[in-house]
Amino acid sequence: MNFYTYQAEARKTAIYPELGNNLMYPTLGLCGEVGEVAEKVKKIIRDQDGKWNDENRKELTKELGDVLWYIANIAEELYLPLEYIALVNIEKLKSRKERGKLKGSGDDR
Ligand SMILES: [Mg+2]
Repeated sequence: MNFYTYQAEARKTAIYPELGNNLMYPTLGLCGEVGEVAEKVKKIIRDQDGKWNDENRKELTKELGDVLWYIANIAEELYLPLEYIALVNIEKLKSRKERGKLKGSGDDR
């Protein structure tokens, strides 16, 4: 599966108010799903001394998929292909690496 296919398939399952004109809904959903990832990782630290297992991997696969779904739908709301977002991100990181700017802060470094 590629980003284009994923984004199209994810959109087919999107049901929320004012679909196509609602940036807030998928953004809030993304925050919730990121929280679910963090909660599962926290419990691995608390209950398993930070050592993850196959069951944790399975659970985190699902939660990371939920994160991806919301990112794809935020991208849809903005008329942005997920593929384009991925390319822009990698180009940004490559440029920072080449310039020795991977560490540090600031969005436009
Ligand atoms: Mg979830």
